[in-house]
Amino acid sequence: MPEGHTLHRLAHDLDDAFAGTAPRASSPQGRFEDGAALLDGRAWRGASAWGKHLFVAFDGDLVLHVHLGLYGKFHVHAGDYAATGAPDPVGQVRLRLLTADRLAELRGATACEVLTPAEAEAIQARLGPDPLRPLDELNDPERAWHRVHRSRTAIGPLIMDQAVLAGVGNVYRSEVLFRHRLDPAKPGSALREDRWRAVWDDLVRLMPIGVATGRILTVEEDVVAAEAALAAGEPVPVPDPLVPYVYKRTGEACFVCGSRVRTAVVAGRNLFWCGRCQRR
Ligand SMILES: [Zn+2]
Repeated sequence: MPEGHTLHRLAHDLDDAFAGTAPRASSPQGRFEDGAALLDGRAWRGASAWGKHLFVAFDGDLVLHVHLGLYGKFHVHAGDYAATGAPDPVGQVRLRLLTADRLAELRGATACEVLTPAEAEAIQARLGPDPLRPLDELNDPERAWHRVHRSRTAIGPLIMDQAVLAGVGNVYRSEVLFRHRLDPAKPGSALREDRWRAVWDDLVRLMPIGVATGRILTVEEDVVAAEAALAAGEPVPVPDPLVPYVYKRTGEACFVCGSRVRTAVVAGRNLFWCGRCQRR
């Protein structure tokens, strides 16, 4: 499933493509015909993400809400569509947005609906704070801490609970717990506040690199190199192959201590950790 950085990146790409336009909206597949009819020809007011949710505001107090789920894809293409017309849709295109030179197609999403601003805010209010959004009254990291320290649930599932923290998925979860040497089985209520704050601050540091590159960089030297490149306005070097600390490295040696990386299913997804570095 895409993690929060993918949705923030998508929001930037959609704004680049459609800001200042009033795209034609349609649903070639037919499942979003009524919604597309509502949006068709309306002025684009701006896209934003909150965790794994995408919101696009249109003129007339309409908000498109999309959740990609496991298989959803929202692709943006460039072309001279004024001259050639839009190409025939390939596969199940739920929503198509079209201007003279941009085409965006949504396929396979778990949610695609038109909401009022109040309905969109209600969804955002149910989500935990998002490390990629500017802080304000709603996006307040204190809310995450309150949920965490009152919970007996282990930090492994807690940190991926979108009502606790919005945007963290399976890769960032495993990696940030390793970076802080946190045992994923430790209950939230047993976590010290300073350690939780360090995790939040680290996500605030790591996730914008994901937005800039589309890749999840978590190994400290890669992160430092990425930060230097971003500060200098240069392209971010992405190691090839990109090897994280523990994610999908089951049975391989931990880079820090040499013991084997372990895995278990936690909150429905494989969690990876080092049993020695991340001891309770
Ligand atoms: Zn280790």
